Amino acid sequence: MFAVPSRCPKSTLYGWISVLLVAGLVQVSPSAAGGLSDTDDFAEVGAAVVQYAHKFDPARILVVLDIDNTLLAMNTPLGSDQWFEWQRYLIENEPKSKFRVADSFAGLLEAQGLLYNISHMHPPQPNLPGLVRRLQQLGIRTLVLTSRGPEYRAATEREFKLNHYDFAKSALPVHNIPCGEYLPYDPNKPEADGLTAGELKLYHLNSPRPISYEDGILMTAGQHKGAMLLTILHDAQEDIDAIVYDDDNERHVANVYAAVLARGKEITAFHYTREDNNVKKFNYGSKDDVNRRWKQLSNVLEEVLQ
Ligand SMILES: [Mg+2]
Repeated sequence: MFAVPSRCPKSTLYGWISVLLVAGLVQVSPSAAGGLSDTDDFAEVGAAVVQYAHKFDPARILVVLDIDNTLLAMNTPLGSDQWFEWQRYLIENEPKSKFRVADSFAGLLEAQGLLYNISHMHPPQPNLPGLVRRLQQLGIRTLVLTSRGPEYRAATEREFKLNHYDFAKSALPVHNIPCGEYLPYDPNKPEADGLTAGELKLYHLNSPRPISYEDGILMTAGQHKGAMLLTILHDAQEDIDAIVYDDDNERHVANVYAAVLARGKEITAFHYTREDNNVKKFNYGSKDDVNRRWKQLSNVLEEVLQ
């Protein structure tokens, strides 16, 4: 069903992990950092889960998955992760750019919300929802761990449904997590939410922003994904023996890997590269098309809503 994962020892992730080791964020020997690799095929993630299922009770295996450019990618570049990062760069570095869609980060979040509401997405691999379902049939638990903020939940859940994903049925059962939005930790009492004072410092966790956890989807509003995962594990109804993590963003992969490993937990992490070519094409290509589409949309909205 799933091929045995091949390891990629030259992954750029090892660069990230080296940085974390030097910074003292990972208190392990380099040889222990073996469960990290790049992959452009989700079947490798599945194979790692199957391997763990030979060793552990599947109900104590947690598969943690990112959304943007991992489970789903935008049908057009407008509103994609790469578009958002480009716009953020313009706001911070080229405020006079004619391509800028907002004056501030808050304005960009609003534009992103509008685009999530009216756009559709697709799995980077057509068979990805099927592969996820096969893993769910093993009886494992899942957690969708996204940087999206809780305000985008409705559009996010709609696109999961349209693409035949259902993460509610395999969601990690938790207790003590409020419905709706909540603050993930109190900087004055980090232990109450499963973090240590040392972790607050190491992961530069300052004032928390509201997040939400429902139907197996943790919407973290851009906060440290490793720390956010630790807070959820703290509230899990059952202990987790092993974690398999898949994300297209190297920084998040390194942060989650380091945070879990530092707790002495078993983890295999994948840097998912299937969308890399599309991201590069956008980053290095002409922005005229997204600019034209955004202008058209703004003009229509202005005309209709004035
Ligand atoms: Mg992503």
